[in-house]
This record gives sequence, C-alpha cells and structure tokens, in this order.
Amino acid sequence: MIQFDQFQQQVLAVVQTNPPQNLVLGDCVGAVLAEPILATVDLPPFDNSAMDGYAIRAADVMNLPVTLRVVGVSSAGHPADCTVGTAEAARILTGAVMVQGADTVVRVEDTEPAASPQSLDAQSPDTQSPDAQSEFVVITAAPSPGANIRRAGEAARTGDELVAAGTLLNPGHLGLAASAGCSELMVIERPRVAVLSTGDELLPPGAGQLGPGQIFESNSTVLAALARSMGCEVTTHHCMDDAASLRTLLMELAGSHQLILSSGGVSMGGEYDSMRQAVAGFDVEFLKIAIRPAKPMAFGRIEESILFGLPGNPVSSVVAFELFVRPAIRQISGLAPALPPMLHGVAGEQLPRLAGEFTYMLSTRQDSHGGWVSTGGFGSHVLGGIAHAQALAVIPPGPEPVAKGSDLRLIPLWS
Ligand code: AMP
Ligand code: MG
Repeated sequence: MIQFDQFQQQVLAVVQTNPPQNLVLGDCVGAVLAEPILATVDLPPFDNSAMDGYAIRAADVMNLPVTLRVVGVSSAGHPADCTVGTAEAARILTGAVMVQGADTVVRVEDTEPAASPQSLDAQSPDTQSPDAQSEFVVITAAPSPGANIRRAGEAARTGDELVAAGTLLNPGHLGLAASAGCSELMVIERPRVAVLSTGDELLPPGAGQLGPGQIFESNSTVLAALARSMGCEVTTHHCMDDAASLRTLLMELAGSHQLILSSGGVSMGGEYDSMRQAVAGFDVEFLKIAIRPAKPMAFGRIEESILFGLPGNPVSSVVAFELFVRPAIRQISGLAPALPPMLHGVAGEQLPRLAGEFTYMLSTRQDSHGGWVSTGGFGSHVLGGIAHAQALAVIPPGPEPVAKGSDLRLIPLWS
C-alpha cells in the first residue's frame, strides 16, 4: 500500500513537459505560454482622448463659463488636421488622437453648444450633445490641466513584457496580445489524451434501452470533460472486457496519445480484471493507494505513452483524476506548481472518518456559513455526491469522526 502523496511524487517523477510550438492567437486559450508576450508597439500607441468632449488649452478655461471657437474634429481613426490656438477648441471623441496645440480634454457633459459667442443665454440649458454644426462651444466646467488624456506608452512601452512565460492563457491575455500587435504565440503543446472505458456492461447514453445487467457509461464523459477543461486534445474509446482486444487497442492508442486514461478492470477481481491481462509484459504497475475511494490503480507505460488505469467506479475515477492525473497534465502542460495547492477550511458539521489505514477523500461543499459539509453519496458508485461537491476533504484515518469546527485540508474539484 502506498500513501497518496507518495504516489503523486512517483507520477511527477516520470512525466515530462511538452515542447513549445508556435500557435495562431485564436487557438491559444487554455494553453500555457512558453515565451513571454512582448509589446510590439507602445500602448496606447499615441496620446488620445479618454472622453467624448472638446480638446482645449487649459489656460483658456481659467474663468468660466467661456465660449471657444470650434476649429475641427478628431474622431477614432480620423485625426484632426487643425491646431487648437488661443480661445479655440476641437471636438474630440473617445480614442481619437489628441489635437495639436490642445493640452486638456473637457468632457461633453461640461459643455454646451453655441452658434456664436453671444448665444449662451439663448441656448436651452439641457442641450448637452456635441453639435457638429456648432461653430462655438461654451465650457461650463473645466477639469485640471492635462485631464482626460491617455498618454502614449502609459500602459506599456514597446518591448515591455505583458504576460509572463508559464501563464495559463485566458481570453483576456489573448486580447492583450492582440492589442500589442501579436498574431501568434509560443505555447506548450497541448497534451494528447485518450480516454478509454472498459466493461461489457456499459451502454453509451443515447444508444438505446438498457439490457439486463447494463448501465449507462459515464466515465468517458466525465474524464474527457475534465481533460478538455485542462486544455487537452481528447479522444474517447470503449472496449469490452476482452484482454486481447484491449491490448490491441491500448497499443494503437499509444501510437498517437501521450496519456491513456482507462477506467475499469483494475480492481482485485482476478480473472475478471481485463486490464491486468491486457498489459502483461508492459511496464505497468498495479497499486493499492491508501485512500477511499480510488484504492486500486494501474500506472506505467504502453510503449512511449503513459497509462493511468483508473478504477471503474465513477466516483473513484474522478478522485483518481483529481489526485494523480490533474498534476500529471499540469506538468505536461508546463503549469507550475504541478500539484495544485490544497485549500484550508473548517468542518461545518461532524464528518465521517475511516478507522484503519485509509485516508477518506470526502466530497464536500461550503455551506452558507463558510464551513465544509458532506455532499452525501458515500458509495463510490453514485456520482450525485461528488457532482455537487466543490472539494475533496482529506480526512486521515482515526477512531473518531471529525468534530464540527475542526481544521480541514481540501483538494479543489473540477478546476
Ligand atoms: P471495474 O473496476 O471494471 O470492476 O468497475 C467497477 C464498477 O464501476 C462497476 O460497477 C462498473 O459497472 C462501474 N463502471 C466501470 N466503468 C464504468 C464506466 N465507464 N461508466 C460507469 N460505470 C462504470
Ligand atoms: Mg469492469
């Protein structure tokens, strides 16, 4: 029997990080950045307005209200060709290039259009929208000199690091890269994962009515979704409990996948454990891990590919994924640390504990008071409990249950 944290180290000792590859920006979400993203331009590339309003000279708006002559317009993508001189203003829109001669932007809410310098009294006071026809504008309130201008390079200078190597790329990172002029990124190659369910009793959902002794197959749905949520390229497969065909399929999958996640056929069922017979002669070890659920596991190599022979019980296969496969995929993907940090929490109710030598991986969620409570479903065959759980509470063996209020270590689930 091996402790779960020892087995985690054993897994990480044999799993290698993938090489980097160049990928078009749009395909990079969920991948890990292999080289930093550097700005290819200043951000912003030029001084521009943060507001819709008027570009003015601060010296002209010391005494308010004041009427200025409007000498041009600068809109996004269309810089003004005028210069703002004494007692002049240019209409400006958000993101438009700052106008020569002006040093401040007054927001449109603090202005009123005026047809002439004398027309202030004739204007309706609630007329606030900038009027392209208006030759003059009345400034009714002025910001501090230099206000409402986004300065060239204030966010980043050409060559600055925008995103560090090792970052798991989210859509925001891709947007930042795009805004800095990057169209491709160097990312760690995605893990190629085969998910393989084994069992004569399994019927894919949607494939018809259950026959005698059949159940709907669920492990491949869960395991594939978990792997895909980690950015893996995933294929799914099913094999009957026939050692020869399982062996053939495993060798075929090993040719094109780095990881094979099988489920089923690894328990103590002797001649019924198809996986044991299928991998005879390969470097695959059958382990007992000191946890419940997910005690039996196979781990090793089929040719160049790494095989995780996960237990068939649906809850056990999820627990084994979270404890052992997730760190392996993180390491292959270049994510550090490979072992996600455990959470700390407090038991929100009395929690069960196992006597003997097994650490209990209990499905839990946080209640409205912040304490961690069981989501039920103590059988390793019922997915209901773990499906509603947020974390596995790691409960070491002992004679007494865990008292309400006790400190807990938790392994996050699903992410
Ligand atoms: P095994 O490890 O093959 O002995 O399977 C243990 C239990 O898990 C049995 O009740 C199986 O029917 C069930 N099981 C195995 N594989 C799957 C699967 N892919 N989906 C749902 N249940 C499964
Ligand atoms: Mg089976």
